Amino acid sequence: MINLILFGPPGSGKGTQAAKLLKKYKLVHISTGDLFRFNLKNNTPLGLEAKKYIDKGDLVPDSVTINMLTAKVNENPNANGFIFDGFPRNVHQSEALDALLTSKGSAVSALIALDVDDEELTNRLLARGKTSGRKDDSDESIIRNRLSVYHKETSPVYDYYDKAGKSVKVNGVGTLLAVFRRLCKLMNKY
Ligand code: ADP
Repeated sequence: MINLILFGPPGSGKGTQAAKLLKKYKLVHISTGDLFRFNLKNNTPLGLEAKKYIDKGDLVPDSVTINMLTAKVNENPNANGFIFDGFPRNVHQSEALDALLTSKGSAVSALIALDVDDEELTNRLLARGKTSGRKDDSDESIIRNRLSVYHKETSPVYDYYDKAGKSVKVNGVGTLLAVFRRLCKLMNKY
């Protein structure tokens, strides 16, 4: 099994690159952000709970997120592997993911971090906000909060997997195709 964490700050291109990687490697894509937005759109209790946090740019509580992620992994017992996008977002979630994969006789293969500076990220998110309809992309103060949450809570996840020799950085600036080629080069190793 190949279990890849596609990692990086909001706006670094995780979702876009994950979609391209899926087509090439037969992996199951799990994006916690997409799952939350699906629930929001359908007004489920989970969506209503998550909305309180997403609209402010805060993390949804771990208990909610981890249960949702676990259910999604369990829905795919025959997967060749997974691309985790937007998860784990703090060290506690990393520990939960490791425990879940261990219980299936598997493990995280690698964490690939897309490296993009904050100024470029803010510009990308504001541009996306004009068409995505995402409230959290259209307000600069919410974007700033998401970036600060990323630096404080999420970036330690890189170090967590780095200690196990699993983290690798990829330059996330350039055309979609240029970044995709960099990722594919790395994928050949797993
Ligand atoms: P982006 O990477 O552009 O911030 P996502 O689609 O990954 O967007 O996430 C959107 C929002 O959903 C986050 O700001 C957060 O509120 C919530 N969210 C997504 N994944 C997680 C997670 N693993 N833990 C907690 N909250 C999450």
